[in-house]
Amino acid sequence: MNNINFLLREIPSMEKVLNDERCSGYMELMDRDMLKDLCSSILDNLRRSILSGDIASFQKEDFFVILEERMDAFKKPSLRPVINATGVVVHTNLGRSCLAEEAVNAVTKVARGYSTLEYDLGAGERGQRNAHVESLLCRITGAEAAVVVNNNAGAVLLCLAALSSGRSAVVSRGELVEIGGSFRIPDIMSFSGTKLVEVGTTNRTHLKDYSGAIDDDTAMIMKVHPSNFKIVGFHKEVSREDLASLARDRGVIFMEDLGSGVMADLSSPGLGGEITVKGCLQAGVDLVTFSGDKLLGGPQIGGIVGKRDLVDRIRTYPLLRALRCDKMTLAAMEATLRLYVRGDSARIPTVAMLSMGQDDIKARCESLASLLKAKIPTASIEVVEVSDAVGGGAYPGTDLPGFAVSIRADSMSSGSLQEHLRACSSPIVAGARDGALLIHGRTLLEGDEGKILDALMDILGGCLR
Ligand SMILES: *Cc1c(COP(=O)(O)O)cnc(C)c1O
Repeated sequence: MNNINFLLREIPSMEKVLNDERCSGYMELMDRDMLKDLCSSILDNLRRSILSGDIASFQKEDFFVILEERMDAFKKPSLRPVINATGVVVHTNLGRSCLAEEAVNAVTKVARGYSTLEYDLGAGERGQRNAHVESLLCRITGAEAAVVVNNNAGAVLLCLAALSSGRSAVVSRGELVEIGGSFRIPDIMSFSGTKLVEVGTTNRTHLKDYSGAIDDDTAMIMKVHPSNFKIVGFHKEVSREDLASLARDRGVIFMEDLGSGVMADLSSPGLGGEITVKGCLQAGVDLVTFSGDKLLGGPQIGGIVGKRDLVDRIRTYPLLRALRCDKMTLAAMEATLRLYVRGDSARIPTVAMLSMGQDDIKARCESLASLLKAKIPTASIEVVEVSDAVGGGAYPGTDLPGFAVSIRADSMSSGSLQEHLRACSSPIVAGARDGALLIHGRTLLEGDEGKILDALMDILGGCLR
């Protein structure tokens, strides 16, 4: 008990702490009130630990060691760049698509000052924020009209609410999917006030299933891209052309949630055959929704393209206001779409990564491997074949053949190497297989190799002789 009292007396007072010169240095990072709250929580923790006997010795200096650790952690932004060495191109947890340089420049320009966001310079009056991307989207997809919102989940919700609330939508049981992050088609339907009419079975749905389900209450037929799973074997779905003519005959809307939003044919092996937004519209779909940051390679956006009268109903529906995009997003989207319009989509990182040739990936890995071998002679390093992935819930079951640098160190397991790489000042998220660390070449960006080399030298430096 005496020892506990002794230790408690060693805890510095708040006044002493705040007057210490080290604390005045921290005032650059946070104001006095926040610093005071932080110090007080550390002091409380210390008091508790001493009382419970978890701490057997304590000096005033110990407090400042803890404070410094907390400050070091606080200095790093919470949302910060990482290096994606996983080979998953549209990595949802790592922010999906990387923007093209043109898009980044457009963002910084409008972020810094005022802009034409909702201003028509010619007329000197209020303009439409959507106008910055509408004609480009129409040009690329062949649509009559277009509107964009915060993301594709929002786009689907908005379309359903504006066009079918209080009525029903017919969907195949094979397409009642969950996309992840709790986006489930039946839930979105009910949020929008649309009655879901399920037709067909999980694996097979016929035209007669749809036609038998349409009645006076039906507002639309909805098709959903299954995105993240694949039905193989005894399977049938109705073609877009047939659904379009059924919808026309019965006077209902035909809408499709395409998900990934392919704009131009991807040339990479194994990635052909995926229908583009334009292809859907050509097949007779009235309204298509898609994500901006999946295969399109732009910012997080939900695109809605199709028939003018439908888009106009959506444009004037009040929920749009709650889902609208901000100026930075619109700037990035406009710049990205311009790359498509001028035939420069290869400048979009997502598109470039997906269409990257085997030889290029291999060459990139070989050059990184030889750098690593020269600097870390104790590790066993080789270039190996791997499967990369499209990601973003697109192309399930499609492996993109790729290459990676495989690194094995006697002193450290692959799991522990991964952990150390994540803790670096430029955090690196890497893969692993059979006890070896894998640095996938496909998803590395310019300048990443040097940072990976530095990080691995730091971590495995102990092995240097
Ligand atoms: C990804 C996806 C969504 C959700 O899109 P977000 O842009 O992430 O909101 C909805 N539907 C389908 C079919 C998808 O693939």
